[in-house]
Amino acid sequence: MSIYLDHNATSPPQPDHWKALVDALKSCYGNPSSPHEQGRSASVAITKARHAVAKSLGVGVADLIFVSGGTEANHLGTVGVLSYQLQMAEQTTKPHVIISAIEHPAVYAHLEHLHKMETIRLTVAPVDEHGFVSFDHVISSITPETTLIAIMAANNEVGSLQPVKKIGDYLNQKRWHESTPEAAHFQKIHFHVDGVQIFGKIPTEKWMSDGMDSVALSAHKLGALQGVGALFLRKGRKFAPTMMGGAQEKNRRPGTENLPGIVSFGLACQESLLSTEWTDQVVQMDLRRQRLCDAILQMPQAMLNSPVENALPNTVNFSLCSPRLQGEDMLLMLDMNGIYASSGSACSSGANLPSRTLLAMGRSMDLAKNAIRLSLSVNTTDEEIETVISCLKKCLPSD
Ligand code: PLP
Repeated sequence: MSIYLDHNATSPPQPDHWKALVDALKSCYGNPSSPHEQGRSASVAITKARHAVAKSLGVGVADLIFVSGGTEANHLGTVGVLSYQLQMAEQTTKPHVIISAIEHPAVYAHLEHLHKMETIRLTVAPVDEHGFVSFDHVISSITPETTLIAIMAANNEVGSLQPVKKIGDYLNQKRWHESTPEAAHFQKIHFHVDGVQIFGKIPTEKWMSDGMDSVALSAHKLGALQGVGALFLRKGRKFAPTMMGGAQEKNRRPGTENLPGIVSFGLACQESLLSTEWTDQVVQMDLRRQRLCDAILQMPQAMLNSPVENALPNTVNFSLCSPRLQGEDMLLMLDMNGIYASSGSACSSGANLPSRTLLAMGRSMDLAKNAIRLSLSVNTTDEEIETVISCLKKCLPSD
């Protein structure tokens, strides 16, 4: 028997999902741009999926662009937006960008590169020891040159939830509800949110705000196929497309649509966020996460990195404190016991690099190198959690 606890990396489609997906695809295999019956069926399937994803996020269908995943969605919502701003004649000064220290590499790497190239000026807002960005720090970092703020809604490694709703509401207030001289400047600031980990785990109304200009989503984090995602782009906001060539997605993202991926994304939204049981299932999952946190807090050889409160209901990250056991060895032992976990973010695992997130939270190099992330799904059972706790106790050295 195996226990899969790496849902923040990828959450596998459920058996029912495969059946629904195959059934949906049987009747449409055409190119959605083709004018004939098969093309029209494929186009209708995409429209249906677009409605499901848009409804789950609480946005209009016209404002949703299907892309290849969370990385591309984040790229368009940050670098694509900056490119557009730089192309605008009135952008005469170097744009100032604010991000947090724990952004996913999909946001962090390219912006850090642009900063090194002196194309932008970058402010990296720090986080506290629990992995929380300070609202006050972000707001007080805004200067007259600020054109972009990009903050993730939930961190992929430790699960800390960020004050994105508060930031969005604040920007909205400043833009449209106060007649101050700064209002015009606040209207120009683009607020991008990486919603990849929060979408499907926390009800949208708890974290979305009218002040958000773009939100990145990824389908495979909620049990759909890999290689598909979406960017919500608020009406009136613009980015410079990274590719040209086709009129798909209203000229915003050329290339034949990933039909199976998009259909799967729509179905996953219906099966989770739009289902009646979902809220209760998430509450149960959170109780299991708390049970895991409590058990880890009792283990002297482990240090809990995830916040106990104000966190994703599925993510538990801890570091090994024993010099006799490395994180990689622990992962191997868990693997041999049929428990599939990860060392943090899937993107950096294998490289044995210290986690940038944990270093930003003030952890030592050793703790940042020896982290384990267990990420649950709503289908994770109590028995599985108890098995994992026993296995951790068995594997941890008794020094
Ligand atoms: N943003 C966050 C917070 C993530 O966790 C991930 C993937 O792990 C991504 C972006 C990238 O998403 P994708 O794998 O769909 O490119």
